[in-house]
Amino acid sequence: MIIVVRPDATEEQVDHIIKKIKDHGLQAHISKGTERTIIGAIGDESILQSLPLEAIPGVEKVLPILKPFKLASWEFRKEKTVITVGSQEIGGKRIAVMAGPCAVENKTLLIEIAKEVKNAGANFIRGGAFKPRTSPYAFQGLEEEGLRYLAEARERTGLPIVTEVMDPRDIDMIVKYADVLQIGARNMQNFRLLKEVGLCKKPVLLKRGISATIKEWLMSAEYIMSGGNHSVILCERGIRTYETATRNTLDLSAIPVLKQMTHLPVIVDPSHAVGKWDLVAPMAKAAVAAGADGLIIEVHSNPEEALCDGEQSLKPKSFKQLMEEMKPIAAALGREI
Ligand code: PEP
Ligand code: MN
Repeated sequence: MIIVVRPDATEEQVDHIIKKIKDHGLQAHISKGTERTIIGAIGDESILQSLPLEAIPGVEKVLPILKPFKLASWEFRKEKTVITVGSQEIGGKRIAVMAGPCAVENKTLLIEIAKEVKNAGANFIRGGAFKPRTSPYAFQGLEEEGLRYLAEARERTGLPIVTEVMDPRDIDMIVKYADVLQIGARNMQNFRLLKEVGLCKKPVLLKRGISATIKEWLMSAEYIMSGGNHSVILCERGIRTYETATRNTLDLSAIPVLKQMTHLPVIVDPSHAVGKWDLVAPMAKAAVAAGADGLIIEVHSNPEEALCDGEQSLKPKSFKQLMEEMKPIAAALGREI
């Protein structure tokens, strides 16, 4: 850790900073320039990381050398994390495609959509039984009944289930049905929820918060991992910007940035990013080209009547076409779809 001392700091203040470092068992390396003094704290930096060092008089800036996230970093794990769910993989050669309606609406419709996405080559069925809606008057999800329908869709198609968990009180029930637990964008920093899913044995799909930085997002992954659950999938789903032409702004650069920072698999949700069905395919293809390990896409057989996110849902036919069009892009990157 490097501590930059203010130009007007007194000798006493500098001595006090050095004492603080030594009191915590680290060594202080002092470098006095003509204008500035810089102090290097040598030793276990993590001891100092939780202290408000910038509150010490005379300190101008503290520059940590260690990353604040550990388990998610390449320093902790040298190989890419590949998460296995039944016969499916996330983070392997094959690009994992999760597809299905925004919300589970009824059994017949869900099974119909599950069969369609399976036929198009999807690897997982997605569908929310607990929905984080902006309005309390909007459809909130079928809850356990919806989970039962998802389990039936899995039985009929063999596709594992990805579904959202919104509240720690529902986890025990949801884990009985789900194969992958989704943490939605609005809950990325719900730390109680993150800690609870960190104790689960099921993989967690962690969506990026609506206005979260990549570092904050990785810290949320770290919360889950520090509980013992190392199966975390990061999902870029667009962030809020000043642009209104799309629902959110898809940060595709997050994919290569994350690949440099973490061994965890990174997937993309083009549906919630763009919010409009005819913009989904180009961004899904771009995500594959940028190195995404997977995609999560909303598909509905009758988007006009959908109870949630119909405007951004692909019809099964367009989804199938997209799957075909992504194949050569995946192949160009040495991957499969
Ligand atoms: C969803 O996947 O249906 C959803 C609500 O996503 P997000 O949390 O990214 O808005
Ligand atoms: Mn949705």
